[in-house]
Amino acid sequence: MTRTHAVSLRPGLELDFTRAPLTVAWEITRACPLRCLHCRADAQHRRDPAELTTEEGLDLVGQAAAMGVQVFVVTGGDPLARPDCFDFLAAASGHGMHAGFSPASPPSQARDARAGRRRGTGTVHLSLDGARAEIHDGFRGVKGAFERTLRLLEVTAGLDVRLHVGTTVSRRTRADLEAMVPLLEGLVDLWSLFFLVPTGRGQVADLLSPEEHEEVMVWAATADLPFPVRTIAGPTYRRILAQRGLPVMPGVNDGKGFCFVSHRGEVCPSGFLQLPVGNVRDAPLADWYRDSPLFVALRDPERLGGKCGRCDYRALCGGSRARAWALTGDPLAADPTCAYEPPG
Ligand code: SF4
Repeated sequence: MTRTHAVSLRPGLELDFTRAPLTVAWEITRACPLRCLHCRADAQHRRDPAELTTEEGLDLVGQAAAMGVQVFVVTGGDPLARPDCFDFLAAASGHGMHAGFSPASPPSQARDARAGRRRGTGTVHLSLDGARAEIHDGFRGVKGAFERTLRLLEVTAGLDVRLHVGTTVSRRTRADLEAMVPLLEGLVDLWSLFFLVPTGRGQVADLLSPEEHEEVMVWAATADLPFPVRTIAGPTYRRILAQRGLPVMPGVNDGKGFCFVSHRGEVCPSGFLQLPVGNVRDAPLADWYRDSPLFVALRDPERLGGKCGRCDYRALCGGSRARAWALTGDPLAADPTCAYEPPG
C-alpha cells in the first residue's frame, strides 16, 4: 500500500516524501586529500574513471529539480577534486533548489568558498571534529587541519551564505562537544551532530552506548545553545524533543525525504545506508526513489522491526536505519543505539 507522508516545512510548502525527497546528496567524487577516521566513503586519493560525467551530473541535477527536490547537496570525497563542481552548484541554484556545498578542508578552501558563493551556493557545510587540534587533526588524519578549518569558518561566516558545521559524535569527540560551542558561536547558522555509523572507515569501537547517545541528545536539546542543532543518523533526537514539548522538524530519515547518489550514479537511501537500489545511468532518479522496494519499506513505519516497530514514536523517529543496518545487517531492524523502551 502506498502511504502519504505529506509534511509542511514552512507555510505553503507541502512535501510528499513518497514522491520526492527533501534533499538529494550527490557524492560527485570519492577523491579526497584527507584520510578521516570516520569517512563513510572510504575516500581515495585518485578520481574514479567511472564517476558520472559532467553531462550526466547536470542531467541528474535537472532530474532532482523536476521531481520537486528542495535541497541539492554536492558532496564527496572532496568535491573540489572535480573542476566542474561549481557548475553543478550553479545548475542546482539555477533550477531553483537550495545548493549545498560540502567540501573537505584543503588549504585553498577560503578561495573556493568565495568562488562557490559566486556560483550560487546557498549553504557551505564544513566539518569540525573537536575543540582541540589534537582531536580534530587526529580524526582528519592531517596535521594543521584544525587551524585551517577555524580560519575557513571565519572566512565563510563573512560570506552571504549559510554556514553549517558538522561534527561526528563518537567516543573520540564526545568529551569535546561542550568546548566546541564557544568556537562556533557567532559563526554558524546550524550545528549538525553526525552520530557515528560504523560503515566505511567508521569503527564499532568508536560508537557511543545507547545511554551515551541519549545523554548527548538530551544535552543538545536542553543546553540552550546559541545556534540551532540538528542530528544526522540520530532521529531519536526528534523523540527527545517531542517528549519535552519542543518543536520538531518533519521526520526525514534514510530513504524518507533523503536520497544519496554515489559518484558512480548508484542510488542509495543515504550516504551511511549504502544499499544501492539502482543506477541513474539505467533509469531516472525518480523511479528509483519512488518505487524501489527498499525505499518504499523505509518510508513505512509499520515495516520496522523490534522495538522501533511497536514504538509510539515510530512515525516521527523511526530510528537510524543506517545504524540498524550497519550493526545488524537489516535496515528495518530496531535501532540498537536507542535507549528508549516503548511502553507495552
Ligand atoms: S525505539 Fe526506535 S522509533 Fe522509538 S524512539 Fe527509539 S529509535 Fe526511535
